[in-house]
Amino acid sequence: MNAKPSRPALRSLDDALAELLGHAQPLAGVESVSTFDADGRMLSRDLVSALQVPPHDNTSMDGYAVRSSEIADEGVTLPVTQRIPAGSAAAPLAPGSAARVFTGAPIPDGADAVVMQEETEAAGDHAVRIMRVPTPGQWIRRSGEDVARGAVVLARGERLGPAALGLAASIGMDRLPVAPRPRVALFSTGDELVMPGEVPPDQMRPGAIYNSNRFFLQALLRRLGCQVTDFGIVPDRREPTIAALDQAARDHDLILTSGGVSVGEEDHVKPAVQSLGTLDLWQIAIKPGKPFAYGTVRTAHFMGLPGNPVSSFVTFLLLVRPFLLKLQGANRWTAPQAHLRADFEWPRPDRRREFLRARRRPDGTLELFDNQSSGVLSSAVWADGLVDNPPGQVIARGDVVRFIALAELVQ
Ligand code: AMP
Ligand code: MG
Repeated sequence: MNAKPSRPALRSLDDALAELLGHAQPLAGVESVSTFDADGRMLSRDLVSALQVPPHDNTSMDGYAVRSSEIADEGVTLPVTQRIPAGSAAAPLAPGSAARVFTGAPIPDGADAVVMQEETEAAGDHAVRIMRVPTPGQWIRRSGEDVARGAVVLARGERLGPAALGLAASIGMDRLPVAPRPRVALFSTGDELVMPGEVPPDQMRPGAIYNSNRFFLQALLRRLGCQVTDFGIVPDRREPTIAALDQAARDHDLILTSGGVSVGEEDHVKPAVQSLGTLDLWQIAIKPGKPFAYGTVRTAHFMGLPGNPVSSFVTFLLLVRPFLLKLQGANRWTAPQAHLRADFEWPRPDRRREFLRARRRPDGTLELFDNQSSGVLSSAVWADGLVDNPPGQVIARGDVVRFIALAELVQ
């Protein structure tokens, strides 16, 4: 009598992710790139400012720099003793006078407030009448209020975005030290797959479908800063599969496949990976996305995603994304969660933790896509986030649920 192979136990997502991250050692080396080209890259050392930003106290308004103590009442008239445009140097302010200043201009020594132009009147050619009593410090931006000299403005492991590039430039950085790009080899598996462009829709053979995973996986990888080599659809034969994996392993950090990791499925990627390295098939207690494979081929990591498009998409976001961020030395890979009110009901939850495709209404409540099937990729386009629903949790309208914005996950 043959014992039935026992069903592998489901592992929690947190457990699987912890193991995966344990395998992700940050890639060695530092690249220096132009600050213009550093969007989306991972900073590989702390950036310390050698100067104050702004460098000197300056005015945030067009107007007049004054000593506030000299203006006890409205209507005081002061001679205008200097004119200070942005970018020029200021002389000390003579007592009993005002300096004409323009936004960004340095505050002259002695002045402690700026009266905006709209609250003054001309009083002859070289004098100004102050129509409102200033409070000390008004309209003055303090030296160092943005960045103090010696401060760490951006920390190692920070993912650089547009605002960070501007901040780096504000302390004089024209080049930035960033982590190397992970080199990722992408394979699609499945004899039913046809590439768009190769066969027109009306000539597709029965059972054939277009390869959609390849497109979003490439795009997701690129957004994470990876250099992608796409090996296309691997031919359904052992020898070419082994040859392709063997070649990919030589100069890639990660080999990523989609499809063919369901339990018991006959395909060639699994035995090929096993013959060259190691392979563990995991059953993760999430929906969509139960099957997932992790292994190694020589020095390259191997990850196998499920074939169902939404499963592939979601497991990428939950498992591959953090892994790739850690490879680049990220100091953070968890996407922030919001707590929002459900404007839907979910009476029959799964025993697995679910990631439901949902979107925010203008009033901040969540609506759910009506078809949550793992094959329905429309749900991922319609949605602007995922409801992270604990195992077995019924959701009633009005309940507060955990929500992760896709915008956080797909960048
Ligand atoms: P598998 O994980 O290989 O059992 O595939 C599960 C389902 O996903 C099957 O219906 C496949 O046809 C489909 N599928 C697999 N790979 C892709 C792909 N690259 N693009 C679109 N659908 C796919
Ligand atoms: Mg398949």
